[in-house]
Amino acid sequence: MSIEVKFWGVRGSIACPSPDHVVYGGNTSCLEMRVAGKVLIFDAGTGIRNLGKDLIRRKVTEATIFLTHTHWDHINGFPFFVPAYNPKAAFHVMAGHLTDQGGVERVFSAQMANPTFPVPLSAMQSKLTFEDFTVGDDLNPGEGIVIRTAPLRHPNGATAFRVEYGGQAVCYVTDTEHEPGKPDEIILDFIRDADLVIYDSTYTDEEFPQKIGWGHSTWQEGIRLCRAANAKRLALFHHDPDHNDAAMTAIEQQAKSTWSGAFAARDEMVVVIE
Ligand SMILES: [Zn+2]
Ligand SMILES: [Zn+2]
Repeated sequence: MSIEVKFWGVRGSIACPSPDHVVYGGNTSCLEMRVAGKVLIFDAGTGIRNLGKDLIRRKVTEATIFLTHTHWDHINGFPFFVPAYNPKAAFHVMAGHLTDQGGVERVFSAQMANPTFPVPLSAMQSKLTFEDFTVGDDLNPGEGIVIRTAPLRHPNGATAFRVEYGGQAVCYVTDTEHEPGKPDEIILDFIRDADLVIYDSTYTDEEFPQKIGWGHSTWQEGIRLCRAANAKRLALFHHDPDHNDAAMTAIEQQAKSTWSGAFAARDEMVVVIE
């Protein structure tokens, strides 16, 4: 009875490969959870390309993809997700922020359209299904797995996910902006007693005043929320591409000395909750 989390992309905004972004990685948002034999994928940023190659190696041909939202950094790896071209594979894509805006399939198909991409969505030969839910709904991707959802404060909307299985809980909370001095009550309730919280830590508290209205939060706010909600561990996530390895190492050290439950997520890092 475990939840295995693997980070395939941990950056926000835009992929940033460079000799100074090796330790933490340069791919944008994508993570995998293996729960009760199911593969659950969260976001389809550039990290999903390597996940796709790994699924082929592991002969996995079925998964559900949950999207926090559809900003570029969370969807633009999907055209390079090779398993989706396999006629024997099946993928179910779910989003909670587009029910009133034409739905998620429309966004995926617009992303792969002439003249910005050479191959249309219909070239993907796998069984691709799309589902729009209403944020706040509970989802059941497999027996004994419950995924709760909650709205985040982000331009165009975003959805947080809380995966519960066998008494464990992992929360994926990105992208979201906090109000200094006023903890987000929805998030506090949502992450209560969680084993792991993956949180939008794009900025530091020092940088935040220059970034108000951009839709992101800080690692310090992540720690404040986790402490107040009695969560056990915090993964700093959605790193600013301007934070190179040296900056990230300093941030991670500061975060760990502030609260021992904190660490910075890196590309291909695995965390097992059991
Ligand atoms: Zn983002
Ligand atoms: Zn966003």
